[in-house]
Amino acid sequence: AKRSGRNQYAFFSEEMQAISTRALTLGNALHDALDQAEFSLYYQPQVSLSTGKIIGAEALIRWHSKTLGDVSPAEFIPLAEESGQILAIGEWVLRETARQIKQWLDDGIEPVRIAVNLSYAQFQANDLPLIVSAILNEYDVSAKYLELELTERIATKNPKHTITILESFQQYGIKTAIDDFGTGYSSLSYLQRFPVYKLKIDQSFIRNMTTNKNDYVIVGIIILLAQQLEMTTIAEGVETKEQLDLLKQLGCDDIQGYHISRPIPADEFTRHFLEANIK
Ligand code: C2E
Ligand code: CA
Ligand code: CA
Ligand code: CA
Repeated sequence: AKRSGRNQYAFFSEEMQAISTRALTLGNALHDALDQAEFSLYYQPQVSLSTGKIIGAEALIRWHSKTLGDVSPAEFIPLAEESGQILAIGEWVLRETARQIKQWLDDGIEPVRIAVNLSYAQFQANDLPLIVSAILNEYDVSAKYLELELTERIATKNPKHTITILESFQQYGIKTAIDDFGTGYSSLSYLQRFPVYKLKIDQSFIRNMTTNKNDYVIVGIIILLAQQLEMTTIAEGVETKEQLDLLKQLGCDDIQGYHISRPIPADEFTRHFLEANIK
């Protein structure tokens, strides 16, 4: 028993070694990624359940490292958050989004609203609303084309700060959404004081809602809650027609997920989803 215990320990430490080596390699490559122009944004459409039409898209960062190949944001965003690089990366995402919107406008294409994810470090900065508004001004893009996503976890860390920042965004005419809703700790009293216009129902509930009664009930309750608070609901991670039909029955407003489209590069997104918007 002792021997197997020691083997187990050796196994875990090797595994931990591998994880930290990978983290170091990634961290080093990440350091140059901005300068090397290795990031791009993919766009995933959001569709209205009542009209079937596109109402927006979420911008999702992609990293193609020249040395490591494609690295998932689920892997490198947490590292960038730890190292502080997320501030520069986050600003690049905002800039690239504004640049793309401006490009559509210049090409005579009416854009849809683009939702951008915010990290905790970005949200901590008191001047974030000013930074975002300055970027929009720089690219001559109206605030109506931008939406910011804040996870429920980030929003509830310091509710007073959250309310201040969200109110400031509201003054700039920038809409905000609570991402991954249902996985955090929103109290009802805070939720109604957060000036957000949209709740994004976390994909973990959508995944099993056709087979798991609890998840189905939770989705229904979130939609009712949002309706009471006069917020819009969007379900993320919708992969099947069955999920779409249930969400429609429950009164969900919009959906996003592989059932409509995977996140795709800007040119593909333009061809497939903005064709009708060409003036
Ligand atoms: P998220 O904000 O919750 O984004 C949704 C994730 O679900 C995306 O993964 C998207 O590709 C994936 N997804 C969309 N539809 C479906 C579906 O039908 N089924 C399944 N299984 N997955 C679906 P992605 O692009 O790998 O991003 C992962 C996470 O990385 C994001 O989760 C977000 O937390 C973070 N992230 C991505 N881009 C950015 C960014 O620009 N800034 C920051 N701060 N975080 C980002
Ligand atoms: Ca998101
Ligand atoms: Ca999400
Ligand atoms: Ca998520």
